[in-house]
Amino acid sequence: MSVQYDLHSHSTASDGSLRPSELVRLAKLRNIDVLALTDHDNIDGIAEARLEADRVGLQLVAGAELSVSWGSQVIHIVGLNLNIENPVLLKGLQRLCEFRQWRSEEISRRLAKKRIEGALEGARVFAKGNIIGRVHFARFLIEQGYAKDMRQVFKRYLVQGKPGYVPGDWATLEEALGWIHAAGGQAVLAHPARYRLSATRLRQLLGEFQLLGGSVLEVVSGSHSRDEIQRMAQLCHSFGFMASAGSDYHGPENPYMDMGKLPAMPANCIPVWESPGWVHAQQTVVTPISSSLSL
Ligand code: AMP
Ligand code: MN
Ligand code: MN
Ligand code: MN
Repeated sequence: MSVQYDLHSHSTASDGSLRPSELVRLAKLRNIDVLALTDHDNIDGIAEARLEADRVGLQLVAGAELSVSWGSQVIHIVGLNLNIENPVLLKGLQRLCEFRQWRSEEISRRLAKKRIEGALEGARVFAKGNIIGRVHFARFLIEQGYAKDMRQVFKRYLVQGKPGYVPGDWATLEEALGWIHAAGGQAVLAHPARYRLSATRLRQLLGEFQLLGGSVLEVVSGSHSRDEIQRMAQLCHSFGFMASAGSDYHGPENPYMDMGKLPAMPANCIPVWESPGWVHAQQTVVTPISSSLSL
């Protein structure tokens, strides 16, 4: 059996719904050998995930998904194999989390102008003390009956042009790559087909990413269709990037992004885990202490 990789996932440390340890146990049940925990703008779940990964015999890759402002767009850069004690990275993440904190207050103020009261407190309940994202506002708005599901609530309230959208002052592309590289990690342009960019603009983004030292494209993503995977594989090949694969799993209530069901890496791509810098290539496989796993 070949080694199974899932290099993009979320826990309760950001907007996922499983605790880091639960996520790791699920990954193990789904026969994933190497899992990257890549919460939005923080590494708070890594320690717990690592402990559980050691216990069940799975390789945990320390990661984070950084929010980046690129023109008027927000794009996501996943950092893999991060040294989570690196001060440059920690300072960068702290800045993003401070912006997130301000943004959550601003989202709440804007919703209040539309007579939706108590949104910040409501979102806080769902975030359970972790950093607040739009998903937590979404859950609050659904609970209050403003929309019937995630898709609808984002469309009505939380995307650009809607009352609960606050334009961002996230990291620049250069900053995000700088922090990831300072922490010894690989920078991955996440779900490149999701940004609704024209072909020309996407090439421009890839060019800038490459000039700044970015070397990996997330070709296989839970949010890419088969056609998109093929198109991204072509781009990956023509730019000479390596390719990553990740489910972007957020929890069991998000049925269209499941775990352990990723399509195979296209043959014309070089997987990032075959790159010389991939730390796990040199590691021995951990033997599980217990073979009885439950969530
Ligand atoms: P944030 O980083 O707080 O702005 O939130 C971004 C997150 O919101 C993404 O990672 C997804 O988890 C979620 N999200 C964004 N757009 C949508 C959408 N249209 N439907 C459902 N979830 C979405
Ligand atoms: Mn998310
Ligand atoms: Mn993302
Ligand atoms: Mn993600």
